[in-house]
Parts: sequence; structure tokens; C-alpha cells
Amino acid sequence: MKDLLFTILRNKDTSRGDFRGAAQRLARMLAAQAAGHLEKQKVGVETPLAKTEGVALKHDTILVPFLRSGLVLLPAFEDVFPQAGVGFVGLVRDEKTALPREYYRKLPTIPKGADVLLLDPMIATGGSGLAALQMLTEAGVTQKQILFVAVISAPEGLQAIQKQFPNIHLLIAQEDAGLTKEKFIEPGLGDFGDRYFGTEG
Ligand code: URA
Repeated sequence: MKDLLFTILRNKDTSRGDFRGAAQRLARMLAAQAAGHLEKQKVGVETPLAKTEGVALKHDTILVPFLRSGLVLLPAFEDVFPQAGVGFVGLVRDEKTALPREYYRKLPTIPKGADVLLLDPMIATGGSGLAALQMLTEAGVTQKQILFVAVISAPEGLQAIQKQFPNIHLLIAQEDAGLTKEKFIEPGLGDFGDRYFGTEG
């Protein structure tokens, strides 16, 4: 299933509608996998017939999509985590230096021990990811609380993140081969946000 979706997402001739459809299906897969990663606790549950045991998430959940491409993942994650608080981080990549510049930060109160899911489709150099992780650290979030969710990563970005934040959890749908000299992921899929929102060119 994942490979079918990636083939659609990678193809430069995929229409905007098909790109959006594949991105949302992949987001739903990632959201379900993310739920599988989080700590659970046993709870009692009463069916119409009997008492039995079930599970519930142990901690509160906070979703933090990166503006703007992380917004693509948000609806699927809101579906799976309907009670989650949502914070936003705005980081724009300077196309010349490939360095991130913060332009927006709005985080909800993050309860102690909450699971914080960072939603960033593309980990290229890792610059934006590192900046967002720094923001969470400043908000008092520990590395173990963080699950970083991405669609594609490049080795450079992944290594940079793992070096500085070795204790965060990562959920990455696809690890690609490298970066172009313009710091795009290769083979990648181009600019995720531009292709999804129709702002390419
Ligand atoms: N962001 C994207 O959308 N695509 C890349 O290849 C790198 C960063």
C-alpha cells in the first residue's frame, strides 16, 4: 500500500487531485502507526453483554504541524487523536542558504508527560526539524515525549536530528538516498507543500 502511494506522490505527472488523495491516504496510515507507537494503559470496558478489558492512550496528545506542509498531515491525525491540543510552528526555508527562519510559534499548554507529535512531511537538511525541536525543548518538553512524524527523510537531516536529539522517537514512512545541491530530497517528490497546495512555479 505504502509503495503504491509513494509511486503516485513521486511521479512528476501526478495531478494535484491524485497527489492530494495519495497524501491523505498516507497521512491516515501514519496516524494509525503513530497511535500504535504511543504508550497505552489497560482500562475496563463494559460491552452490552459483559465486562472486559481494553486499552486507552496513557498520556495526553499534542499535535504540532509545521506550517505549511505539516497541515497536510493534520486532518488524519486529528481524526485519530480527536482530543489532542494543536500547536503550530512556522519555519520558512531560505532557498539560498537552505536555513530555516522562524516566523510563527503558537503552542498550547503542554501537560507534563504528554506525547508531542511533530508533523513535518519532509526532513531534508533537518534544519527546520532541529529548530522545532529546540522550540519544544524551550517549552519544557523532554525528548522522550516527542514522536517526529515524516513522510520522507534524507540521511543528512535524519543524522543531524538523531545527533542532537538522540532520545526522540521517529516515525518516517520512507528514507530516501540523499540531497541535491539545492537541498531537495532525492529521488524525493519535489516540494511537498507546493504540489499539495498548487503553488509550484
Ligand atoms: N521540502 C520539500 O518539500 N521537498 C524537499 O525535497 C525538501 C524539502
